[in-house]
Amino acid sequence: AIPLQEYLTRASSKTPSKVAIHFMGKDITYKELYESSLKFANYLVSIGIEKGDRVAIMLPNCPQGVIGYFGVLYAGGIVVQTNPLYTEREIEYQMKDSGAKVILSLDILYPRIAKVIKDTHLEHVIITAIKDYLPFPKNLVYPFIQKKQYGFKVTVEHSGSNHLFTEIMRVSTTEPITLNFNIEEDIALLQYTGGTTGYPKGVMLTHKNLIANVQMCSVWMSECIPGEEVIMGVLPFFHVYGMTTVLLLSVMRGDKMVLLPKFDVETTLKTIQKQKTTLFPGAPTLYIGLLNHPDIAKYNLSSIKACMSGSAPLPIEVQDKFEKITGGKLVEGYGLTETSPVTHCNFIWHNERVKGSVGVPWPNTDAAILQVDSTKPLPIGEIGEIAVKGPQVMKGYWNRPEDTEMAMRDGWFLTGDLGYMDDKGYFYVVDRKKDIIIAGGFNIYPREIEEVLYEHEAVQECVALGVPDPYRGETVKAFIVLKEGMKVTEEEFNKYCRENLAAFKVPRIYEFRNELPKTAVGKILRRTLQDEDKERIQ
Ligand code: ATP
Repeated sequence: AIPLQEYLTRASSKTPSKVAIHFMGKDITYKELYESSLKFANYLVSIGIEKGDRVAIMLPNCPQGVIGYFGVLYAGGIVVQTNPLYTEREIEYQMKDSGAKVILSLDILYPRIAKVIKDTHLEHVIITAIKDYLPFPKNLVYPFIQKKQYGFKVTVEHSGSNHLFTEIMRVSTTEPITLNFNIEEDIALLQYTGGTTGYPKGVMLTHKNLIANVQMCSVWMSECIPGEEVIMGVLPFFHVYGMTTVLLLSVMRGDKMVLLPKFDVETTLKTIQKQKTTLFPGAPTLYIGLLNHPDIAKYNLSSIKACMSGSAPLPIEVQDKFEKITGGKLVEGYGLTETSPVTHCNFIWHNERVKGSVGVPWPNTDAAILQVDSTKPLPIGEIGEIAVKGPQVMKGYWNRPEDTEMAMRDGWFLTGDLGYMDDKGYFYVVDRKKDIIIAGGFNIYPREIEEVLYEHEAVQECVALGVPDPYRGETVKAFIVLKEGMKVTEEEFNKYCRENLAAFKVPRIYEFRNELPKTAVGKILRRTLQDEDKERIQ
């Protein structure tokens, strides 16, 4: 067993001139990626990074992020993935919680880091300027800033002509770093949970966790040829989903990843067409965004073989439409940050996929439906908490032994999601334990209401929430984003829902919005909507 970064070493020695990354018109080969990563690693070692030290990366998808990621691993460090959209408060929280000593980020994000740095353990800030995301490596400037003087000392100045990246390439070496790794125990990554339901927790993912998940993914993609696939990298790498299913999958198989620093519908469509991407891991809101582009039919998207949708329920409607337009398969999977992330998925090619289901557990993964708040397995068809066991399950939460203990019971990881299993072993996510609406004593699953709303031709996006109600405890409120040019009134929706849902599930309140707040992977922030609603009432 070898640690994660050695898969890059292998790819570089096996296929040195193969393209590893395509970014904004520029190709980077495996050899270049390997050597740059080693240079970054040697630099980190030279500034005192030792085995187990945390190094944060706060970047949108770009080559520097991938180099930084492997550089940290070669140096024996732990990557702390940080969302570039974080506010100062969030950056401070994560830096303090993780104890990161170094952060790699963008020049435009630097002021946010500078404001909080003195209260953290950060000793070095490495800045890369990607002015308008110019191609790599030209025009990249990496000034190095150190804590101590002026708060932080600028140790290497930067100017238009002094490209510090080039400088590192010149001063740093590609000498291999020899360290001993215990892949079962050594943490490769501290991945913070999305925070949809509470404070983000640092999830400790070991080398083994991540390798296992990528290997499972490769089995699932059995009909894809290693080294030949072109993977669309629009899911952000600072989230576990994009990191595993694009960054790691690609490097471990020697495929090419095509990176976009941000999701933009038109650029994504153009990129699929031009780069002939074959795999496209995404989230429902991404596919919905593409499908709603008025000119989608003008693009040739036929290179797409397979897409995995995760992180939120995939409306069947969206799945059907996307498959029709691309000719490729779009299948639903399921997972969490704590499970590296994938635990379940539908099959792609064997006609054994079940729409509306998140599929079957992945190879080497056990899954069960347990009675909530106990570990008693429930019979087929009964709703309980989804629990999983497998090599992709995290080591635990960083510095939170009580939370770890709460999440792990009798060897099972409790997901906090409610679901059931059918008689063929397919799993269905009903909802999150925390999202259930209890109205007048009835349990209502928001997903069921959302599925009905998505079937309405005018609905682009929607969410159903429980809001306080003096008589029923909670009542259902629907937030709806209408498709462009569509007009539907509250009364019309009410009539439509009454025809398609039992009376107690029909939303009592509707709110129309131009957009809904989302996380970085496009997950609708239900809690934000709920808080906004509460504030308005008060
Ligand atoms: P936090 O755990 O901090 O609240 P988060 O929900 O964004 O944040 P993630 O680990 O990113 O954390 O997301 C995992 C959750 O996403 C799962 O627990 C599940 O609720 C949801 N999820 C993932 N895939 C699916 C799917 N196919 N269908 C429904 N829900 C899904």
